[in-house]
Amino acid sequence: MDKNPKVKKALFGKVENGKLSCGLCPHNCFLPEGSLGICGTRKNSGGELFTLIYGCVSSMGVDPIEKKPLYHFYPGSRILSAGTVGCNFRCSFCQNWEISQNTYFPCKFIGPEELVSFAVEKKSIGLAYTYSEPLIWYEYVLDCAKLCKSKGLKNVLVTNGYINQGPLKQLLPYIDAMNVDLKSFSDNFYRKLCKGTLEPVLNTIRTVSGACHMEVTNLLIPGQNDSESEIEDMSRWIENNAGRGTPLHISKYFPVYRFNAPETGAEAISAARDIALKHLDFVYAGNIDVPGSSDTLCPGCGALLIRRSGYNTEIKNLKKNICGKCGYEINIINS
Ligand code: SF4
Repeated sequence: MDKNPKVKKALFGKVENGKLSCGLCPHNCFLPEGSLGICGTRKNSGGELFTLIYGCVSSMGVDPIEKKPLYHFYPGSRILSAGTVGCNFRCSFCQNWEISQNTYFPCKFIGPEELVSFAVEKKSIGLAYTYSEPLIWYEYVLDCAKLCKSKGLKNVLVTNGYINQGPLKQLLPYIDAMNVDLKSFSDNFYRKLCKGTLEPVLNTIRTVSGACHMEVTNLLIPGQNDSESEIEDMSRWIENNAGRGTPLHISKYFPVYRFNAPETGAEAISAARDIALKHLDFVYAGNIDVPGSSDTLCPGCGALLIRRSGYNTEIKNLKKNICGKCGYEINIINS
């Protein structure tokens, strides 16, 4: 089984009473001999846990860091981004379902050394693990992240945040920035539409906050997670648990995969943004052009610090992380 380079002994396998379980994510799957976990990428073979997607790269490209989206982490830089296949969620509205819900999607094996060399060659600030769920790619992400860090490059995770605390804490020392997808503030939403639960994602946000740079994304779906009370509760929770300087991206949803609710309108995004701005200093509209809603303003004096248009970024009044007009310290990592 281990002749295939994509198949590797996995971390967090546990045998109790002769039964093998995986402790990587909150599903804590029990895997009978020969079976796969819910993510479809971890397998019991001979009573041991293996990952089937080590170095399995389905998609790769050099992207603006703003596309992750990260607006407060080296704005204007570019990052080599790679993704695998599979996911531990089953979101019926998944915008990347071709790779996340299909573990048979064609992949190319790229070892950690080769991937990090690409990052250096492309003059990327580092590596972003993205496109599908990187946390189920754990062993590979950990190896790449260690190597990347040893070369002075940055590691970025774009994730659903559905991971157990132990594995998360082992990975965090190598991660420089994360965008965590908070899909809704309703456990019912997570159970019904994602086949997951809310609490572990909130725990991830609490743990990541203060450990590395973090931004949060919320995909606004009409009629599902866009009520005023839900936006209010979610924003207040982020303020209380991660700080009002945490950037929040409220993104437009498009009907895709198994979901056909109409796409999110600009008015709904603006209304949600206005509610969130009562609790958070930086709330951005994503996947949509709402004039001014992608710019960064100083919470102290209102000065325009960064103007964004599409993925073009123009830094105006910012010296490192300090507002050039009033001296306010901004939650931003800027070279
Ligand atoms: S990572 Fe996969 S196998 Fe492990 S608990 Fe989560 S869904 Fe199950």
